[in-house]
Amino acid sequence: MSQCPNQAANSKNCPCTYSCERHGRCCECVEYHRAMGEIPGCFFTAKGEKTWDRSVAAFIRDRGR
Ligand code: SF4
Repeated sequence: MSQCPNQAANSKNCPCTYSCERHGRCCECVEYHRAMGEIPGCFFTAKGEKTWDRSVAAFIRDRGR
């Protein structure tokens, strides 16, 4: 894993409740979830984020109207 000069600042604003090594390294977070066909936790509502389900289907259930 590389060092990120923005990690500390990003971590303060990151709403993700899952503990992982990408926390605060947003480019790695996006790359990881994109490769999995998923969406990063910060795009979900607080309630949706807490399910830790990052699938597109979960995102639509969470954010859909
Ligand atoms: S959204 Fe995923 S990769 Fe990003 S900080 Fe949370 S658990 Fe880690």
